[in-house]
Amino acid sequence: MKRLRKHAAGDPELLRIATALSRCNRRHRCLHPACPQCGRALQRLLVRIIARFLKAHANLGPWRVLSVILPVRPGGTEIEFAEAWDRYAALLRQAGLTRGVFGLDFSFNEDDRRALADADRFEPHACVHLYGLAPAAEVKAAVPQLKQLLPTTDAVRRPVRSTPFDGDLAAVAYSFKPDFVRRQTILKDKVGRANPVRNTRDRPLTVEQQIPLVQALEGAGLNGRIMLLGLSMEAIA
Ligand SMILES: [Zn+2]
Repeated sequence: MKRLRKHAAGDPELLRIATALSRCNRRHRCLHPACPQCGRALQRLLVRIIARFLKAHANLGPWRVLSVILPVRPGGTEIEFAEAWDRYAALLRQAGLTRGVFGLDFSFNEDDRRALADADRFEPHACVHLYGLAPAAEVKAAVPQLKQLLPTTDAVRRPVRSTPFDGDLAAVAYSFKPDFVRRQTILKDKVGRANPVRNTRDRPLTVEQQIPLVQALEGAGLNGRIMLLGLSMEAIA
């Protein structure tokens, strides 16, 4: 945040955000969508609410973890949570999902496979990613359709992933994680393999990436990353 403040000099909009975030403390929460402390508090609250909801409505389960990534625009660096929200909601409904508790995550993806020619590496891009829980039967029926709608690309190798939900609330916490990274695709040597294999590593966002993210989070609002499909906050709380 100190870095953000330094870069905010001369930009009244950024300066206002940086000042609000710097004043956040336990006695007076700023409730800014880009505030890491408030983000963690919101995450804890959602985990508690959703844990209670899952327990009270066991009849809706079992649940599965579903992760979906929409096609990225090569070189696209604009971050649009509201637009992504609409596109993901439409996509999930199109695939037949009627219920779910999802969060929108963000990463800035870069291709750091230095052994490859420039033309073979994907362009850096902003990526808004959907992650959460939905009824297992619906997820199983939806996954083949989602895979058809979202073909694999070099930038997004696994646009659709689904795993069983064993009740571990870490999956719920991950849906609403308040920290965001720069995800680098790399080539890594692996024992027993002749050629290095594709892998990723996380790095902190650069200030140039943080500034548009903070602005996008502010535009989205504190609940802009929460997607309750077929459920209302009143119904789950
Ligand atoms: Zn705060």
